[in-house]
Amino acid sequence: MPRPLSATIHTAALANNLAVARKYAPKSRIWAVVKANAYGHGLARAFPGLRATDGFGLLDLEEAAKLRELGWAGPILLLEGFFRPTDIDVIDRYSLTTAVHCDEQLRMLEMARLSKPVNIQLKMNSGMNRLGYTPEKYRAAWERARAVQGVGQITLMTHFSDADGPRGIAHQLEAFERGAEGIAGARSLANSAAVLWHPDAQFDWVRPGIILYGASPSGKTADIDGIGLKPAMTLSSEIIAVQTVDAGHSIGYGSTYVADKPTKIGIVACGYADGYPRIAPEGTPVIVEGVRTQLVGRVSMDMLTVDLTPCPGAGIGSRVELWGEHLPIDDVASSCGTIGYELMCAIAQRVPVRAE
Ligand SMILES: *Cc1c(COP(=O)(O)O)cnc(C)c1O
Repeated sequence: MPRPLSATIHTAALANNLAVARKYAPKSRIWAVVKANAYGHGLARAFPGLRATDGFGLLDLEEAAKLRELGWAGPILLLEGFFRPTDIDVIDRYSLTTAVHCDEQLRMLEMARLSKPVNIQLKMNSGMNRLGYTPEKYRAAWERARAVQGVGQITLMTHFSDADGPRGIAHQLEAFERGAEGIAGARSLANSAAVLWHPDAQFDWVRPGIILYGASPSGKTADIDGIGLKPAMTLSSEIIAVQTVDAGHSIGYGSTYVADKPTKIGIVACGYADGYPRIAPEGTPVIVEGVRTQLVGRVSMDMLTVDLTPCPGAGIGSRVELWGEHLPIDDVASSCGTIGYELMCAIAQRVPVRAE
């Protein structure tokens, strides 16, 4: 028997979430963002659920090639562009669209020999201050790109830093409009948060990622209440042992948890080597036999421990949900001081994953 830990990818939930994104941005075409192995879900497993998209956005050339092997003939966008001249050969071979964010990339395109024009998304730095041309330098970059023989369509692109937060996007939209003024071409601005909360930023293409996987762009479950998103991944395991500890006895490494009364503890086959965060504190929610209980003691490499007081019928073999269908990943993430994105991307190689 394999260890009872596994992740299940819900294909119907992915399709549902893509439809939700479409409902929120009905006039835009969608780049379904599948970077980082489809946010940990597995590119090949996520593909069937997302194939109604208009295009896929990702980072790695290998992932792009894999999508072509899976039979995707539509647009694929390299969100960070390329790094070396030889990358352009791959872009050409697989007919990829690429972000272009700096003069070094433009220079490589000028030198490249392409068999057909390459479509690019010229990135503006409208305030995130990671990649792209400032609004002041944008027009010159666009003119230079347009003069490159191998460059086909040029889409105008930027990325928001605060679409999910109180600062919002007004300052970046203003910068974008200023830099893009008078330049023709499709626009590509909105991430998940902007798809949900900033319809004024949707334009021709939107680039949702996290909402396709059913989690919240802000990391707060309450922020996506009633939107109709469904969790695309359930991480589940079983109780593999039960301990009843007396008052005054501790559990696990460092004896961080000491029982204040006789307490029934369930030992769960899932630890930080599976991608469950070691930083998860006591009180982090866990579901056992459908009942919400909590983590006690430190997460170890292969196991974690939960309080079985709320679920007295639980024992060896009881089903445990770490996150997913009945426990929003953002509830676990916020208990750990992070966001659902990080947890789903961190699922370890050794966890068996299956799609349903
Ligand atoms: C990751 C990424 C996205 C998707 O972001 P979400 O918050 O997951 O929707 C969109 N655009 C770019 C450039 C990205 O890198």
